[in-house]
Amino acid sequence: MTRTKKNTAVFLDRDGTINEEVGYLDSIDKLKLFANAAEAIRIINESGMKAVVMSNQSGIARGYFTEEFVGTVHTHIQKILRERGAFVDAFYYCPHHPTEGIGAYLQSCSCRKPEAGMLIAASEDMGIDLVKSYTVGDMSKDIQVAGKVGAKGVLVKTGYGLNTIEKDFTPGSAEAVRPDYIAEDILDAITWIMRDRQ
Ligand SMILES: [Mg+2]
Ligand SMILES: [Zn+2]
Repeated sequence: MTRTKKNTAVFLDRDGTINEEVGYLDSIDKLKLFANAAEAIRIINESGMKAVVMSNQSGIARGYFTEEFVGTVHTHIQKILRERGAFVDAFYYCPHHPTEGIGAYLQSCSCRKPEAGMLIAASEDMGIDLVKSYTVGDMSKDIQVAGKVGAKGVLVKTGYGLNTIEKDFTPGSAEAVRPDYIAEDILDAITWIMRDRQ
């Protein structure tokens, strides 16, 4: 039976998009949310769209931190957001890496962005129509993943964003991407999405 997917979502990258990019976030005191992240996510909440975090966490595969620690980070993010009147509907992460990793974490998986496994899982779990949904992130893979499922992709200039523009916007470059919009930060991205979806 095909279930009609009625929900739409904004799939938010985590590091460099919601919180400051610090390389590998391996200790909770390195977690710093951008000043307007909660406001941006609150706008998603009020719109009726789902706010879904979707992040590659290969630091797990590399042995820099555990899945339990990633869970702790997500609990902290949610707590900070709740205090500011916002919330994330669901957190997804990929713990794998194709060439570096311990045990089962070493694999070419279907969930590491730019593969679309996390979007597809969320779509099934939450009844999300991906074609009417958006991704927001600071790296090319955050935009490429949108293209794989017919969603729209927004690049933010925070985190690695400016570097991504410099490196990957050269036509013909291996990772050449064309975002639907280039935003100053997460709030600018969400403001654009709210206009675009109408
Ligand atoms: Mg990022
Ligand atoms: Zn994976």
